[in-house]
This record gives sequence, structure tokens and C-alpha cells, in this order.
Amino acid sequence: MSATIQVRNPATLEIVQELPVASPIEVAAAVARARQVQASWQLTSFTERARLLYRLRDLLLDESDTLADILTSETGRPRAEVYGNELFYLCNAIGAWAKNSEGYLRQQKIAPSFPLVKAKKAYSTYAPRGVIGIISPWNFPLTLTLGEALPALMAGNAVIIKPSELTPLSAIFGADLAARAGFPQDLLQIVVGYGDTGAALVDHADMIAFTGSVETGKRVMHRAADRLIPVSLELGGKDPLIVLKDADIERAAGACVWGSLMNSGQACTSIERVYVEAPIYQAFVDKVVARVKAVRQGKSTDDVDIGCMTSEAQLNKVAAQVDEARAKGAKILTGGRRNPSLPGFYYEPTVLVDVDHSMSVMSDETFGPVIPIMRIKNPEEAIALANDSRYGLGASIFSRDKSAAAKLAEKIESGAVCINDSLVNFIVLEAPMGGRKDSGYGYRHGAEGIRKYCQQKTIVVDRFGLKEEFPWYPASEKKARQVRHLLNLLCHSGWTHKLRAFKGLMRG
Ligand code: NAD
Repeated sequence: MSATIQVRNPATLEIVQELPVASPIEVAAAVARARQVQASWQLTSFTERARLLYRLRDLLLDESDTLADILTSETGRPRAEVYGNELFYLCNAIGAWAKNSEGYLRQQKIAPSFPLVKAKKAYSTYAPRGVIGIISPWNFPLTLTLGEALPALMAGNAVIIKPSELTPLSAIFGADLAARAGFPQDLLQIVVGYGDTGAALVDHADMIAFTGSVETGKRVMHRAADRLIPVSLELGGKDPLIVLKDADIERAAGACVWGSLMNSGQACTSIERVYVEAPIYQAFVDKVVARVKAVRQGKSTDDVDIGCMTSEAQLNKVAAQVDEARAKGAKILTGGRRNPSLPGFYYEPTVLVDVDHSMSVMSDETFGPVIPIMRIKNPEEAIALANDSRYGLGASIFSRDKSAAAKLAEKIESGAVCINDSLVNFIVLEAPMGGRKDSGYGYRHGAEGIRKYCQQKTIVVDRFGLKEEFPWYPASEKKARQVRHLLNLLCHSGWTHKLRAFKGLMRG
């Protein structure tokens, strides 16, 4: 393993920067420094933490052009996406966490329901876990690093981020801005490196929030098991879009194209397969093809809609899936090849029909600008096909009958469903976002998105201060009989049992 990382611009193939890799010893030292500063950070108020977040938001906005330069240089994405996705997300997320964290982590009163426990008062508190390790992929280099750190910091933790080896620069810039905003030194640190650096973080942090592939997620969970530290896993997806015959076809086609091609399809909740009811199938396909043909692909410095793939390995995976589908009989209506007129990792936006679930483009995660569309007979078939997947992250349904769509949504095995929309659940920061099946474990956003970074503690207080409690020693046959009578009186559903228990208690 090399001791440096060369960050390459995937659009131009030029080396942007070379960075040293953090060794396991350096990771351990970073965690130790973070642990020290966390001890005082956890004593700060929510108001103070929120104040620093708002300051960070101002700096992100003030420096958005520099941020766009950095982010486009390591991803090849258009500048419009930096402002429209990453900056939009962070502004939204900072506002939501600054406003909601205190409420999410407020002490909770607990009322015991069993009459024999009502003499106890209980409440529950949320304490920070300590040092949170965040391990991130390359597709949203700021949202999935700094964005994921926001709730962890608001909960009173320190954070160490291990960004993807392909896109570490945005996270480094984000951490620099956090330091300028006034977050204490070493509270938020970046460790740059490959998988080994991530593994070292698992060996030292108090919790890992991992976003990435299913395979790496499993490895992280195995390693975390050795130390019994919690993990949250946000993994891959194969999100279906179902278009029913009463749908607004124009809106469905627009949402489909954007939901599939945004960030060149490199989003965990990208629409990756489309099921359309037969009566509107052809009209829908025609609209999608027309829209896809109008999408402008090119360099981030030009006025374009989509950029390139961030990784060549990912481009090759996308190409292999499309080639396999073609060999098995799929028809390519547009795209279907690497863009020959651009030097970087550009794959043309692609629409495929005559596809089925024997093809990897319908069963494996694609993570590229590909829209495979299948004709279906009815909603039941759509649900069966949507659930015929190892993944369960998101889904979309289009229908003018919103209550029928909501009933169908209940049947989809996924963590979220958008009705008459695509991808938007990710920007509703108050709503939990997580996956089922191979798509992961745990949640980001909403109350769960911050409580996962906390150790919940229950405090139980005695109300009456009696000198003796019933179960205390010495035990006796009489006490045992009385407990049995009491339980029968309170819990048995038969009246004769209750009566017998009452008489038994009266006898003593
Ligand atoms: P990846 O799993 O290859 O890498 C993710 C991160 O893990 C990288 O930082 C990598 O260096 C690190 N890593 C690699 N081996 C490790 C190890 N043994 N221990 C600890 N860390 C290790 O994923 P990727 O290719 O960077 O990202 C693409 C994947 O991310 C896709 O599958 C996509 O669906 C998924 N993703 C999921 C979500 C979500 O919210 N569900 C969001 C974005 C991306």
C-alpha cells in the first residue's frame, strides 16, 4: 500500500493533489487527541454548539465558490450540482440539527405501567458516546462526511472522518471551515487513507457510522464486533420506480430522468429500475428518451447537466452491466457506451428496454447513469418485482390516486418511498432515512439520526423511601404466596382466579 494518495480529476485525468496516508499509529493518536477535547466539548450547551454550526453555515456560503472548485476537481460533477445538492443539503442540515437536536435529546420521562412498579419514578438521558468514526464513500464528498458529522457534534461527541481515498479534499476543506468557525482544535479531524486507515479507525473509535458498499460494510461490522462498538451502516440500493396507468406521465418522466441521472446516477437512492403499467408504457418511454437525449453531459466548467463518473472502476462496472443486458436481448434506446468525445470517465446517459431480472442491470446496484424500463401488467406485479431484490433503500410510486399509492407504499420492502417524486426523502431532515435487507442497518436524520450517537441511560428513583421492600431478604413462604396472589389478582383474566387471589390475600 502506497504511503500517499494521488487525488485525480476524473474529468481531465490530471492529478489534483497528493496527500500522505494516515498510518494506524496516526489514527490512534488522532482519536486520543479527539478524546481529550471531547471531555470539555460534552459540557458545552446546545445553544453554543448551534451557534458554531450557524457560523460554519455562513462560512460554507461565503466560500462556496472555492468549495465548488475543490469538489468539482475531485468528482467531475457540474458546479450546479455542488450548489444544488451538497451546499443545499448542508444548509438544510445545519438548520435542522441546530434547531432540533436539543429536543431530540431531551431527558424523557418514563411512566411504569405495571401497578407494582408505580412506586418507582424513571427517566432516560442521552449522553455522547465519545469519539465517532465516520467512514465515507466518494459520491457525495461533503454531504456524507461533514453532513454526517453534524448530529454527532451536536450530541457532544468528537468526530474523526475517514473520507474516500478518491475524494478527500472536500472533507479536508469542510474541517478547515469548521475550525475557522470556532469548533475546538481536534474536535473534528480528517484521517486520509485507504481501507487500512478506515480499519484503524474501527479499532479505536467508540462508534462507526459507515456509508459505502455492502461488502465493506460487512467487513466493518465484523471488525467492530471484536470491540463490541456500535455501527450504523448506510449501504447500497437498487431503488425501483413504479409508474401506474393513472400517473401524470410528464411529471413521472421528469422525476425518473433526474432521479436516475443526478450525479451521473452515483447516489445511493438513485432510481435504478423502472416498472410501468402497460397502457402508458410507450408514452412514458418516449418522454424519458426525449428528456435523456436533451441532457447535456460535459466538463464542470461548462454549462452542463451532468458530469462524469468519479471512478473508472465504477464506469467499467456500469459498462459491463449494460453490455451483459444487451447480450441477453435488451434494447438500447439511447446511450449505452462510454462517451467517445470526452477524455474523462464519462458514460453516456442510457435508456434500456426489454430488460428482465435475469440481467444484472435489474438485480445488482448499477450506480451509474442508466435507466432500465420494464412493462408491467398491474400494481401487484410491480410490487412483486420491486421486492425481488437483495436491497431495500428507497422507492418511488407515481399515481394520481395518492391513497392507493400510499397503500402500495406499505407493501414495498424499503426504508423510504416517495409518492409522485424521486429522491426527496433525503432532504426531509426530520424524517429517518435507513435501509432494509442489504441496504443497511440504522438511520441517519430525524431523532434516530442523532440518538444513534448517544448512550442512553436510565435513572430510576424510589418515591416513598420505605425501610423494607417486598422482594428484599429474608424470603419466606408467606411472601411467595402473597406475590402469587397479587399477580393472580392483577394479571389473571379469569374472575374466579381474581376472587380466589383476593380471598387468599385477605387470609394473609
Ligand atoms: P466502499 O465500500 O468501497 O468504500 C467506502 C469507504 O470505506 C471508503 O472510505 C473506503 O476507503 C473505506 N474502506 C474500505 N475498506 C475498508 C475496511 N476494511 N475497513 C474500513 N473502511 C474501509 O464504497 P465506495 O465505492 O466508496 O462507495 C460506493 C458505495 O456507497 C455504493 O455501494 C453506494 O450505494 C454506497 N452509498 C450508500 C449510501 C447510503 O446512504 N445508503 C450513500 C452513498 C453511497
